[in-house]
Amino acid sequence: MRAPSIRVVARLLGYEPADLVWDGLCPECGSDGMRVSGERWSCRKCGSGGDSLDLWAASRSVPRPTAMLEIGLRLRAGPPSGRRTA
Ligand SMILES: [Zn+2]
Repeated sequence: MRAPSIRVVARLLGYEPADLVWDGLCPECGSDGMRVSGERWSCRKCGSGGDSLDLWAASRSVPRPTAMLEIGLRLRAGPPSGRRTA
């Protein structure tokens, strides 16, 4: 399975992606240093970054395979009906 679009993942995580390049709160350090460009994100404060799976993994503190699984489940489940606690 290919990594899902970072915009899809970002929406699931509660971000509101603007254009192709947008800023947000870093899932790793919590600063406003995160920038998303194309399918990659990076943080200029703590140096974290990666693709959509890394974004989910960092936000939820899970390894990448778990991130893939969770994203798949969320996408199949449709619109979020409330956050589950991990
Ligand atoms: Zn950071």
